[in-house]
Amino acid sequence: MALLISGVSGYICNECAKAAYQIVEENQKSTAAKSKFNQPIDQLPKPKDIKEYLDQYVIGQDDAKRYLAVSVYNHYKRLAQKKDDDGVEIEKSNIIMVGPTGTGKTLLARTIAKMLKVPFTIVDATVLTEAGYVGEDVESILTRLLQVADYDVKAAERGIVFVDEIDKIARKSDNPSITRDVSGEGVQQGLLKLLEGSIVNVPPKGGRKHPDQDYIHVDTHNILFICGGAFEGIERKIAQRLNTHVVGFNSVQHTRHIDKNNLMKYIVPQDLKSFGLIPEIIGRLPVLTYLNPLDRDALQRILKEPKNSLVKQQVKLFAMDGITLEFTDEVLDYIVDKAVEYKLGARGLRSIMETLMMKLQYEAPSSHKKGDKIVVTKEYAEQQLENSLLQEAAEGY
Ligand code: ADP
Repeated sequence: MALLISGVSGYICNECAKAAYQIVEENQKSTAAKSKFNQPIDQLPKPKDIKEYLDQYVIGQDDAKRYLAVSVYNHYKRLAQKKDDDGVEIEKSNIIMVGPTGTGKTLLARTIAKMLKVPFTIVDATVLTEAGYVGEDVESILTRLLQVADYDVKAAERGIVFVDEIDKIARKSDNPSITRDVSGEGVQQGLLKLLEGSIVNVPPKGGRKHPDQDYIHVDTHNILFICGGAFEGIERKIAQRLNTHVVGFNSVQHTRHIDKNNLMKYIVPQDLKSFGLIPEIIGRLPVLTYLNPLDRDALQRILKEPKNSLVKQQVKLFAMDGITLEFTDEVLDYIVDKAVEYKLGARGLRSIMETLMMKLQYEAPSSHKKGDKIVVTKEYAEQQLENSLLQEAAEGY
């Protein structure tokens, strides 16, 4: 039975009220989706603001942060440029970050995307293969970007893509250290098309291209690509190059001190070429920066300092039960020691923390009451880790 609801100057039935509600809902949803990714250019943070924001989440890596901040800022300036007739056109500055695994490459890209509120996706270059082979076509990168942009093509076209493990699609022949080749050069060619900027037919649901499928056309001219890779063994190539310079004819000019412990900071595009990236790809990744290996001090800071550091997260979990949680300085040192011993780097901090806190997380909500305080000591941590699988695995190697 229809129900009539009276208003100021008329009536509406329950069915119409429902339909009207749905229309309003839909409308709000689509404007929210649109505005979510639309930030006016003049409100964009400046490079120094971007770096300061990154500092809250990522420890160290100052050079990489500065490079990223400037590239991202220029990228958005580029989007804002008007087509005037001075003939100067700002070109896209895709970025490549080189550095050991687990040093913050993905974290940097992710944090920047969060700050800029643009669609952001991470793809692993190792799953990409040439069209026709088992694996994913390069277009699948754009499918993911479309998905995170709620299929708002305009928003996706201003998005950021992080291509992880780009070193794994290096040409095998130039690079003896790579054992697996996912049809390297072909994938590089496919990726090149996206990096250069072109209009790509993207299957909306992903998967293989299919002749009967409707495609979405995505213009990649304004998509910023950030690539990352460990480029294991590239230091040798850098060392070789630096040496030939030193003994070469220009040796007098090359008397600067070389930090042999961190050769990565001398990386130049030619090194990427000797590693097996094709020159065209290198040309499309004009901003090259590196990440430092994380030393003990950095690991210690990662535990405590970032806005959502592991220590802060644990404290919060316990605070939700009304329990005050504290870690002694020795226990934090101990966690870092273990991360170094297990050779797990920053990624290991999390597993170590979880392992040593598991028992307390299980028991404390029942055994403790609101207002209690728990101090995690080194002795406690040792007990928890001693018989853990992590320790066993470390001893097994
Ligand atoms: P990769 O360089 O391999 O992309 P990630 O960015 O994925 O490394 O780092 C793995 C994890 O280690 C991050 O999620 C973060 O918790 C931690 N981490 C690594 N480097 C840093 C850093 N410089 N500052 C803060 N946390 C870091």
